[in-house]
Amino acid sequence: MSFELERNGKSYFVIDNGHISSASAKAAGIINPITGKNFVLSWRFEEFLPIALETYAALEKFLGIQIVIDMPIIRSIDSIDQENLWLAKSSDSFFGKYLDGNGYDADWLSAFRKKLGYIPIKNSFRVDIKSLLYHWKTHLIENGRFLEEEFDYSLIEIKNGKVDYKEFTFDKVVFCEGAQAIDNPFFDSTSFSLNRGDVFTLKIQNIAMNRMYKDELFFVPFGDNTYWVGGGYLPKGKDEHEHKKEMENLIKEILIIDFEHLHHEYAWRPSTKNRRPLLRQSDTFAQLYQFNGLGTKGTSLAPYFSKVMSDVLFSESSSLELH
Ligand SMILES: Cc1cc2nc3c(=O)[nH]c(=O)nc-3n(C[C@H](O)[C@H](O)[C@H](O)COP(=O)(O)OP(=O)(O)OC[C@H]3O[C@@H](n4cnc5c(N)ncnc54)[C@H](O)[C@@H]3O)c2cc1C
Repeated sequence: MSFELERNGKSYFVIDNGHISSASAKAAGIINPITGKNFVLSWRFEEFLPIALETYAALEKFLGIQIVIDMPIIRSIDSIDQENLWLAKSSDSFFGKYLDGNGYDADWLSAFRKKLGYIPIKNSFRVDIKSLLYHWKTHLIENGRFLEEEFDYSLIEIKNGKVDYKEFTFDKVVFCEGAQAIDNPFFDSTSFSLNRGDVFTLKIQNIAMNRMYKDELFFVPFGDNTYWVGGGYLPKGKDEHEHKKEMENLIKEILIIDFEHLHHEYAWRPSTKNRRPLLRQSDTFAQLYQFNGLGTKGTSLAPYFSKVMSDVLFSESSSLELH
């Protein structure tokens, strides 16, 4: 969001408490075109992907870093029904462009439990979100645009059509607190349906995986023999230690060679009940906005909806209609 303002020459300032609760800091940054049990094209994927790739390329240029990796996915199939469904879909010319012609003949697959079949997916990407956050924050600090602290909602005062906060005066404030938005007193939190994602970082020697692999969990190569393993969510009411143990056992079922477990983390995804982004203006104070609800797909949705938000902030005629 702040890069969108930067490249449009707008004045802005970011307050963040150092990613304490950040989902972005835990995300693998996967952009996955084909999702769900029925292999459907991800919601509005063909609209979002070009804008995501353009924005990340612009960020790479601006920051002098490389963050986007074109990385196919191999997805395992569990049943004959799924296999038949995929065969029908893959002969369709529309889905054909997401079928990786290189197939799934990869040596490293033998490190994983055998499945009924595999689907090779292309036009999928991994964005190095950790590196992006680090370099973008460094840029903000160097340019005096960043304050690392907890935002105190009680200190907001609306005066003369502007927002006073501590020593600052802003024309508008956009809240982008991810899952922490449920504590924001200016916006109703009933639209949210947060869900927790757990991540395990593993060290796996000598498998040289060059694609992402999806069984019941996603395995994503992060370089230097380290792998991000995650997916799924903590079901409501389930004990978190039991959930962690079950995930650890599942990893051992899926990955049938030795590995080292480096660490475990989790964060809450800012999902909404209707599984759509949540961009809105406060009913009470026209200067306050919310940019949220990126759910499980922040990497592909954020660039597109940052443009929508930026248009709304700077053009009287734009509306926050999302569908
Ligand atoms: C384990 C896991 C894996 C995921 N993997 C993927 C993936 O591969 N691909 C994908 O597209 N999406 C993925 N997601 C979803 C993705 O992470 C989210 O959609 C996205 O990160 C949401 O971004 P955000 O900026 O809205 O929220 P966040 O990343 O949570 O950022 C909010 C920021 O606001 C700060 N903040 C909150 N409240 C305050 C306050 N009061 N004062 C100051 N600062 C505050 C937080 O500390 C944080 O830095 C994953 C999520 C999880 C949890």
